Amino acid sequence: MDNNFDVIVIGAGPGGYVAAIRSSQLGLKTACVESRKTLGGTCLNVGCIPSKSLLHASDMYFKAHKEFKNLGIESSDIKLNLSKMMANKNKSVITLTKGVEFLFKKNKISHLKGKGLILDKNTVEVVGDSNKKEIFKTKNIIIATGSTSTSLPSIKIDEKNIVSSTGALSFEKVPKELVVIGGGYIGLELSSVWKRLGSNVTVIEYLDHIIPGMDKDISDEFLKILNKQGINFKLNCKVTEVNSLKDKVFVNFNHNKTSKKEKIECDKVLIAVGRKANVGEEISQIGIKLNSQKKIQVNEKFQTSLKNIYAIGDVIDKGPMLAHKAEDEGIAAAEIIAGQAGHVNYNVIPAVIYTSPEVATVGKTEEELKKENIKYKIGKFPFMANSRAKVNNETEGFVKVIAEEKTDKVLGVALISSMAGTMIAELALAMEFGASAEDIARTCHAHPTHSEAVKEAAMSVDKRPIHI
Ligand SMILES: Cc1cc2nc3c(=O)[nH]c(=O)nc-3n(C[C@H](O)[C@H](O)[C@H](O)COP(=O)(O)OP(=O)(O)OC[C@H]3O[C@@H](n4cnc5c(N)ncnc54)[C@H](O)[C@@H]3O)c2cc1C
Repeated sequence: MDNNFDVIVIGAGPGGYVAAIRSSQLGLKTACVESRKTLGGTCLNVGCIPSKSLLHASDMYFKAHKEFKNLGIESSDIKLNLSKMMANKNKSVITLTKGVEFLFKKNKISHLKGKGLILDKNTVEVVGDSNKKEIFKTKNIIIATGSTSTSLPSIKIDEKNIVSSTGALSFEKVPKELVVIGGGYIGLELSSVWKRLGSNVTVIEYLDHIIPGMDKDISDEFLKILNKQGINFKLNCKVTEVNSLKDKVFVNFNHNKTSKKEKIECDKVLIAVGRKANVGEEISQIGIKLNSQKKIQVNEKFQTSLKNIYAIGDVIDKGPMLAHKAEDEGIAAAEIIAGQAGHVNYNVIPAVIYTSPEVATVGKTEEELKKENIKYKIGKFPFMANSRAKVNNETEGFVKVIAEEKTDKVLGVALISSMAGTMIAELALAMEFGASAEDIARTCHAHPTHSEAVKEAAMSVDKRPIHI
């Protein structure tokens, strides 16, 4: 193989593999280095895809058990076969990671197997199996090395009883008692999975609310719904110790306000307190600047402090740690390298929590607008008043549209609903085109659909909803 490239991408997650495909489409000679055995990164191997497979399967199991009979579907023999559920999840992962392999071949991308190390701004060393080293030369490098789970000080993840999300995606048995440390989206999605499959789940969160950074009313409503589903919450509590003894784990925590000490004995603990960027030591040694959280600093063109070295995805100091953000940055970085005008609009990046109901947001929260002194108006519409949601017995949640007071421009939307993750695309598109609430209100929405609630919320901004 000729070892000279136009672009070498390090990391084949959603940021890296998409950047490699786009680079190749643009006629750049491209290689992608990946240290994992399979392509697709965190997202396809141990993130978005396996978690969504388990969320879907556990939701079906729960509904078959508890809700089908209300619809007149009766069955007395619904049983959980966890190993089959896991096998189905693994099959989805294999199919999709193989799909990326196919796309690499189709786009003539050289897949370099091993760990990529940047020796200087035009040289990448790949350390493969048995420590075999090979040197590659390149005009440009895109760092897309992603992130890994973090823990709390003094708590060691063993992936057996004290696990990260990766361990919690592969339990061999349903834990009787599961403690989840961290009430962010990963902790809550996995809490939902195991609660539906039969665990008693307790979430311990340091803050006094779940999902930091989300609109307060959405977070409160979501908490109410999860509580009703039987998930226990210990909010405003700091975990002080987690000790594993034989097959039990003991979690000690204090209440932040009262200092009251509590202890829970459980079978498994999931640590879901955040993720840290994968930044090798050589990155700072060659002069690439990091921010205080040890993420790579980039400019609006995704250039690091070394101009021909770009960085995208979870590893950079911009935007949320989400797969679709990484993908869009991958496309933009490749286009910029090819001389085009790649761009990512960080004001319009949707975020979805795939629980039941789902929670989806895009744009600013009320709290952010208050801080920025921007005057706004709000329209809300509950799914209780939406005919399709009523027919489907899915009446929990609401839509909230926030528009600028003077111009009516949509600044943010949040919704809780069974279809929220799909419905948010309409709002992202509307915001991308600079729509007003009135534009959404005057757009014909099919009946009967959950999306009519979006139209009604937009009409509520002008205080003229029809169905409430
Ligand atoms: C449980 C879970 C659920 C999630 N669910 C969602 C979801 O539903 N939606 C969503 O948008 N996001 C979700 N995420 C987040 C999402 O997975 C990440 O935001 C996304 O994968 C980031 O993409 P990336 O390309 O930046 O990095 P990654 O996907 O982390 O990929 C980086 C790759 O680089 C490789 N690598 C690292 N260093 C080197 C090196 N030196 N040489 C070679 N290879 C290297 C790694 O092995 C890895 O494969 C979830 C994450 C988790 C953990």
